[in-house]
Amino acid sequence: MDDTKQALLDRIEADRDMLLDFYTKFVQAKCPNPPGDTREAAAHVSAFLEARSLPYRIIDPHPEFPNVVGTFECAQPGRHLVLNGHIDVFPAGEHETWSHGGPWSGAVADGKVWGRGSADMKCGTSASIFTFMYLHGLRDRLNGRLTLTAVSDEETFGPWGARYLVDNHPEVHGDCCLNGEPSSPYSIRFGEKGPLWVEFKVKTQGAHGAYTHATESASRIGARLIADLVRIEEMDTPAPGNVGPLLERSAETTDRALGAGASEIIQKVTVNIGVVRAGLKVNMIPSECVIEADFRLPIGVDQDRVLAEVDRILHDYPQAGYTVVNHAPPAWCDPEHEMIGIIQANVKALRGFEPQPTSSLGGTDTRLWRYIDVPAYVYGPFPTGMGTGNEHVPIDDFLHVVKTHVLSAYDYLSR
Ligand SMILES: [Zn+2]
Repeated sequence: MDDTKQALLDRIEADRDMLLDFYTKFVQAKCPNPPGDTREAAAHVSAFLEARSLPYRIIDPHPEFPNVVGTFECAQPGRHLVLNGHIDVFPAGEHETWSHGGPWSGAVADGKVWGRGSADMKCGTSASIFTFMYLHGLRDRLNGRLTLTAVSDEETFGPWGARYLVDNHPEVHGDCCLNGEPSSPYSIRFGEKGPLWVEFKVKTQGAHGAYTHATESASRIGARLIADLVRIEEMDTPAPGNVGPLLERSAETTDRALGAGASEIIQKVTVNIGVVRAGLKVNMIPSECVIEADFRLPIGVDQDRVLAEVDRILHDYPQAGYTVVNHAPPAWCDPEHEMIGIIQANVKALRGFEPQPTSSLGGTDTRLWRYIDVPAYVYGPFPTGMGTGNEHVPIDDFLHVVKTHVLSAYDYLSR
């Protein structure tokens, strides 16, 4: 660890209370999506930047979905690193149970920070903001440019956040993107699956429930169709290039981060039948059955391949049709990029182990950078309780994520 990096770590330790105060109040800034109004969280971030005279502007194509964007140039020309994190969070259900305060408490207890968004992803976004702050103080000795994008509208894959910035503000593209979505300290994510949501509709004549000779039943056809759709999971879907062997090597890490069994589905298409709707009454034969399926496509599999399977299945179901409701292709970038090595070396120095490159099951905004060929990497806390009661992050993990982002951004901009 060189002197500057050690000095950065010392400062983070000295600033511990201030960083924790920002993070807990960030969790308290209630901004569930839907509805996605993030003005309170954006105001919290802006006030922090403002108080430290850090450069930023608000880009709000929709007034309730502001994005906080800051940029500064370093002393020497060089590469452009983009820090990205979202400020909206999942909604909180009425029946969630919380051991420490409610979903918006930001409670500090048992050495952890509790609340909706503590893991997904106000820990990681805080790390981006602090990285921006610490490196701004060192800009005279760094190369290139650093950009902060603290964005709205991520949880519903909405159009007003990162998507708007990437489409309309090429100045946020950069040469590399670093993000603090939950990943677990043991893994660095270089890719993610792509969702493909399809709505199926089965239509029949319908009839009185006793007149089964008079019509086919939409619900019974729907049940058979579901059984056939689920078999799409058996498709052979090897990963391209160096990704396959790498995912195999990191199988244990993947299970550790995402739960046992995750490594078995990471490179497979999965099928979730999220909604099934049919029938009005027990003694009527349904004339319509609606099935909403959530396919997740692994790296290297495009929607045409899955839809070709769907078409083949529907050949046997003349009563059924479908529409694609939502789709984002799977996204990945170089799993052996310099940034992976930088993060591994820093985590090794901080914690004594090397996080492994892996892919993710769910979606993040980093896909938007990967789509335009900007390598984007995710390193954040465990996804503990994400989207349920008791979401939390240990304070030590929070500080670890902050340190890793600060040191890694420093390394990238000092080469
Ligand atoms: Zn997230």
